Amino acid sequence: MQSNVYILYTGGTFGMKSTTSGLQPSTWEEIITYLPAIKNQTYFHYFAEIDFTFDTLEPVVDSSDITPATWERIARRIEKNYSTHDGFIILHGTDTLAYTSSALSFMLQNLSKPVVLTGAQLPIFHPRTDGIINLSNAIYIAGYKSFGINCIPEVCICFNDDVLRGNRAVKTSTNDFEGFSSPNFDNLAHLEQNITVSTHLIYKPNDKDLRLLTRFSERVVNVTVFPGYNATVLLELVQKNKLDGIVLRTFGAGNLPQDAQWQTLINACEKHKTIILATTQCPNGQIELGQYASSNVLKSTSVVDGKDITPEAALTKLMWVIGNFEESDRRRMLSKNLRGEIS
Ligand code: ASP
Repeated sequence: MQSNVYILYTGGTFGMKSTTSGLQPSTWEEIITYLPAIKNQTYFHYFAEIDFTFDTLEPVVDSSDITPATWERIARRIEKNYSTHDGFIILHGTDTLAYTSSALSFMLQNLSKPVVLTGAQLPIFHPRTDGIINLSNAIYIAGYKSFGINCIPEVCICFNDDVLRGNRAVKTSTNDFEGFSSPNFDNLAHLEQNITVSTHLIYKPNDKDLRLLTRFSERVVNVTVFPGYNATVLLELVQKNKLDGIVLRTFGAGNLPQDAQWQTLINACEKHKTIILATTQCPNGQIELGQYASSNVLKSTSVVDGKDITPEAALTKLMWVIGNFEESDRRRMLSKNLRGEIS
């Protein structure tokens, strides 16, 4: 069966070349000469009919330069091409890829087509690049119709033969070809000789019409607690009404030192309507407020239990909820499993 796949190149190691100032992204025109089968729309014709649309998000960047404004631009490109394409591939640097995939998952409500983010640890110009296999795998997931594969109507990451839910993934290696993992949720698909989609895990849209909510608040901070942490600066920001939200990365199952400064901070957050999304510093597992006495301080109306959410999903969810919802709805929205980001 014929399918139409939209590929958006945003930059990242996938298309980078060495320059005197280090690795920098090159143009799609240069990259595509290394992908003749895709360029000539031929290779996949041995198996199936796929038509590619190539697009570039200018300027192409190292993903360290990606901002919420870029997330919105990517979402708008998907929206613009939504009715004419069956699946979408976003070529993206790996450093902030899990932030973008999490942000897109919240922005794209009622998604019913695959949005697949991928990239590479070694550039397409390198003889041992992982870019070709990652892109080929992403094409199978986005062009699922042509290959008789089950549809994954989610924002996902396709990397090193695995498909991960976008808002469950974290970058776990700077050099391993398995650059990402999904610590608290099984992979959505495995691409071995055969492609196996775990259909029972796939998130089902509630409605059929795609809806975009693209605002992100920048009045948030991400705070990792450490032994001896002094919360004075954080307290000052809350008291001066400079913050709408805090991702608080606690110890273990939601624990904090039992000194008085934390109660003072929580009281200030209640007074100034600053919402705290409580998460754990541990890559695996979840917080359980009340399990230890040292987490009792977090039992407050200004605190939301982040359960097993990843750091990337926690931050983007908080920014997105504050950006798009009234203060009275924020707690409810943050507690809710919106796109499969929490168990
Ligand atoms: N610094 C690069 C980027 O995120 C790393 C990569 O793509 O692997 O754009």
